[in-house]
Parts: sequence; C-alpha cells; structure tokens
Amino acid sequence: METGEKGVKFDVQKIREQFPILNREVNGKQLVYFDNAATTQKPQRVIDAVKNYYEFENANVHRGIHYLSELATDKYEDSRVKVQKFLNAKESSEIVFTRGTTEGINLLSVSLCRDDFFKEGDEIIISNMEHHSNIVPWQLIAKRTGIKLKVVPITDAGELDFDAYKNLFSSKTKFVSLVHVSNTLGTINPVKEAIKIAHENDVPVLIDGAQATAHFPLDVQDLDCDFYVFSGHKTFGPTGIGALYGKKEFLEKLPPYQGGGEMIRDVTFEKTTYEGTPLKFEAGTPNIAGSIALGEALDFLSGLDREEVETHENELLKYATQKISEIKKVRIIGTAPNKSAVISFVVDGIHHYDIGTMMDTYGIALRTGHHCTQPIMARYGVTGTARASFALYNTKEEIDNFIDALNKIIKMFS
Ligand code: PLP
Repeated sequence: METGEKGVKFDVQKIREQFPILNREVNGKQLVYFDNAATTQKPQRVIDAVKNYYEFENANVHRGIHYLSELATDKYEDSRVKVQKFLNAKESSEIVFTRGTTEGINLLSVSLCRDDFFKEGDEIIISNMEHHSNIVPWQLIAKRTGIKLKVVPITDAGELDFDAYKNLFSSKTKFVSLVHVSNTLGTINPVKEAIKIAHENDVPVLIDGAQATAHFPLDVQDLDCDFYVFSGHKTFGPTGIGALYGKKEFLEKLPPYQGGGEMIRDVTFEKTTYEGTPLKFEAGTPNIAGSIALGEALDFLSGLDREEVETHENELLKYATQKISEIKKVRIIGTAPNKSAVISFVVDGIHHYDIGTMMDTYGIALRTGHHCTQPIMARYGVTGTARASFALYNTKEEIDNFIDALNKIIKMFS
C-alpha cells in the first residue's frame, strides 16, 4: 500500500479532479455535495477498479484452479491485507468482508448468540447516540436470549456521559458496543478510554467505525477494541462492501453467521466442519469487485497525508460552524469540542424537509430527517434535523454557497 506523502501540501482542487461526479450539475446548478455521512463519492480509480474487474478479471474466488480464478482470488485476498493495514490489525485473518457496518454488527450479534455467549439477565452497554444499526441487532437477539440493553446518556453538548458509563458496569455486563463518531452529532467519542474501562471490567468491546474511517487514521491495536466495523461506501469505496475486524482469539471461537459454500471444510448429512477464520464467516460468493475496489479506495486515502486531510476538514467544520452560528434562527444540535465534520441543525419555524427540498433547488445535497438515530432526536426534543456533512473534497466556497442559500431560504419562509 502507498504511504501518505507527509509534508506535501494538501491541494483540494487536485483531489476534486479525481472525483468525476463533483463536476456535474444538479437542477441547473453546480453540485455541492454535503451528504458525505450518508455515503461518500468515489474517485475515478475506484470506479475503474470495478470496471476493470468485470472487463478483465471476472471469476469466482477460492474455487478454481484456472488463471482468472487465481487472479481474482489473489486480488480479493490482497484487499483483505489492505484493510488489515488500514486498520493496523495484527493479521489479515482478523478481517472479515461484510456488506458493511450493519452486516458486521448483525454477524457479530448472531454469532455471539449462537455461541451461547449471553445468558438471561446479561447486559449490553450501548449509548444514546447509536445509529439504529447498533441498536436493533441487539434488540433482535435480546428477544431470544433475555439480555437487557443499558444505555449511556449523552450531555447537552452531545458527549457521552462518562461517569454514567462507568456506573453502568455490574457483574451482569457482558458486552459493550459504541459508536466511534456520531453520524448525527459529529461527536468523536473517546473510545480508547471507554475500551480501557470495559476491559477493566473484563468486558469485550465493539466499535462502530462507520463515520471514522474517511476522516482520520485508525489503529485497532492501539485502541485495543475487540471488534471494529466499517462500510466501504463511506470510505470512498463501493456500496455493498465493508469489513468486520475481530481479535483472532474471538473470531476463532465464534461459530459461523451464515452457512453455504466457501465456509466449509467437509460436509456430510451427519456433520459439517468449517473453514478457519475469516472464511467461515464469508458464506457464498462474496462481493469480489467491491472488495477489490475497496482496497483501491483505501490506497487512495493512504496515499494522502492524513494529517493534512484532518486539518482541511477541521477548517471546513470551523468555518461552517462559525458562519451558521451567525444566523439567528439556527440551532446546531451537537456542539462537542471534539467533532468530526458534521453539522446537524434546526431552523426556527421551518421544517427540515423544506430546508432539504429548497437546498436541492440550489444544487446543494443535504440530509434531512432522523438520520437513523431516533433516540438522539428524542433526546433533543426534535423530530429531525438538516445535516451538512463534509469530506476531504469539499471547499469553503461550497460552504459560502450553502450559507447563502440558507439565508435566502429563511428569508423566503419568514
Ligand atoms: N453506524 C453509523 C454511525 C452510521 O452512520 C451508519 C450509516 O449511516 C451505519 C452504522 C450503517 O452503515 P451501513 O448502512 O453502511 O451499514
């Protein structure tokens, strides 16, 4: 994998040139894409990797002995190594390809359940700022196992209440699952500290990294998390591909999630034995093109100076926060000091859908609604927000356009 070129000045225009979609117009206006928390755009090299696979390399993996099958298998497994390096996992066998964050969490919850990891009365700690995909899978297995969810409250600014977190641990606590970066509030949670506290209580931890991977470098060994999940499409890669990292000692022990081809060693009607990790978790033909293109996306990111990327995004966040705070009728939801480039806001007297719809007429793509975090909406007493979320290719000029449009919309509605 390429390593980031430290000291090379971050040039946003050069980055933008690599993303063909950013050139297009929407509703007769130059596109301003501020919906990056939902999905990021793709650089040409990622699009080419998908095309190239189907044009020149298409074959099934792990099955054939012919040239193309071996090529596809090599490229698929190379991508696993790229994910391993991207997360700084110890071994590539600790990386399981999934459809994305949601599938990673479902895989884990179901496997833990099948392993009889939980018994009735056990407790799982999650937080009030989880995406639905880190709530509902646990509720689904709670019905079967009789486990209970304990929820860490959040402060007015949108931070985890750490004292409350510590107090939730008891002899019944069996698992912790927390979001790294909130897709709605932007809060970057101090997950390393949260993991340390959980481990002091002998409790393993899953981190939902869906909103982290595109924004700052990760090191699962340094975090010491037991599991980490993310989505390729939020990391400049294709949809339908992501990964679950798990410490080897856990993955080796856990039973498969789905059964089928690829994940078995021997099958008879009496007994089936399984492949080792990670293949025992990858039943059926996987998303081969997706995984190869994900590797390309990670190469793209790792080829940049990640510190420069972070600085650029922090500047965008600071600039947009300052500009939007100057508008009287606007309230930002999520004001933690340590934030990723996400601004959720409500405007007095204007429904968030109206803001989103009007913004679209200016070619500006925002997200509106509950962002799959209804418990956050309940916490702040709102039905939804408008959300602008930035990525490394966004610019201050785009923020100026957005603020201009917001002022016009507010004037029109008042
Ligand atoms: N977790 C967080 C924090 C998210 O923001 C999202 C998607 O928005 C998910 C999980 C689910 O990701 P996916 O739909 O890619 O599985």
